[in-house]
Amino acid sequence: MDFFKYRKNRLYCENVPVERIIKRTGTPVYIYSGRTVLTHWRRLRSAFAAAGNPLISYSLKANSNLALCKLLKRAGSAFEVVSGGELFRLIKIGVPGRRIIFGGVAKTADEIKLGLRHGVLMFNVETRDEIMLINRVAARLKKTASVALRLNPEVEPATHRYLTTGQKGNKFGFYLPDAERLMKEMLALKHISLVGLHMHIGSQIIRVSPYRTALKRVVKFLEKCRAFGHPIRWLDIGGGFGIYYHGHEARPARVFARALMPLIKKTGCRLIVEPGRFIVGNAGILVTRVLSVKKSGAKYFVICDAGMNTLLRPALYGAYHKIGPVTRRPGRTVLTADVVGPICESGDFFAKKRRLPAVKPGEYLAVFSAGAYGFTMSSTYNSRPRPAEILVNGSKYQIVRKSETYQDLIRLDRY
Ligand code: PLP
Repeated sequence: MDFFKYRKNRLYCENVPVERIIKRTGTPVYIYSGRTVLTHWRRLRSAFAAAGNPLISYSLKANSNLALCKLLKRAGSAFEVVSGGELFRLIKIGVPGRRIIFGGVAKTADEIKLGLRHGVLMFNVETRDEIMLINRVAARLKKTASVALRLNPEVEPATHRYLTTGQKGNKFGFYLPDAERLMKEMLALKHISLVGLHMHIGSQIIRVSPYRTALKRVVKFLEKCRAFGHPIRWLDIGGGFGIYYHGHEARPARVFARALMPLIKKTGCRLIVEPGRFIVGNAGILVTRVLSVKKSGAKYFVICDAGMNTLLRPALYGAYHKIGPVTRRPGRTVLTADVVGPICESGDFFAKKRRLPAVKPGEYLAVFSAGAYGFTMSSTYNSRPRPAEILVNGSKYQIVRKSETYQDLIRLDRY
């Protein structure tokens, strides 16, 4: 569900007409519904409540805007970060370390130091080198680092191949035999305590069975770890819960929770889930202005002022996003068009062969379900400044990031 709806042919975000926002901000612009964010966070928390006080750790990579993070902090969220930069953001808004999990494929000594100094709850680790580095850095700081091993349970989650992270051949996590050798080796490390196990099998997953298969493997491994004397008390099952891009493909969180609960309870661990997309994906739209409508042979192109620099997902994964006019004009003919951006790349598109009302230059389109991996993956490619971000709360809205300027583009250049 979300709070973007048409009323009398005008698109609203909660109680604010989108037109009113763009009159002030211009386009392109990302618009987020705070109410949608909180609704999704609460749904997930209540879905997994039977696990007993689960830690719902919002994964910052989906959208790291500080105002959104603050909203979630106030709701009681924990957070998952994968870089020193993401951790810095949370430190800036006063999130205590005990509410932060520091994951990611590999970390530098400086990032580990920052994490240890801030007292993060634990590091999710996925290479032996990193474990040894954490041990050395913690020794220097006279601390013991809590860590969780990220396992690669080798399951096929049935999502886009770029969104799989827990199957054979992925760079992520430890295969179970490697994890077993390492877990034994870790008993000798003085500045590391193995307190958790972690899995994250991919993103935009709409089937429950891959989670269940993966979790069964993790739970079996957990018993082995305990038998070797590791005090495992955290079970982090990652994120990856799918949302709707087309219409109804998303499963309610309680479907995942119900299926996994017996396994979770069996461990006696405190549960962590790390959703990103599920919380913010349906909570954001990208609004773009039509610059030009071109007919090349029999084909129409709707050319917009936003492109792959603003929202990369279609170019990167061939991802589908619904697109609709900000103002519906009943009676308009419908055309089939490629909706594209102004960037000098053939991969620069939002939709191919899409049926759309015949929009005209100067009119606005909304690209839906753009709240996750939208702004965070944006760039200034072709020297186009990044757009503003707006957060709506009921009948009010706030600019939570200004649009960049040409001056911003060259601010760090030395010439
Ligand atoms: N946790 C880890 C380790 C991830 O790599 C990701 C995404 O890539 C997430 C959580 C969040 O995933 P999602 O946005 O699909 O919930």
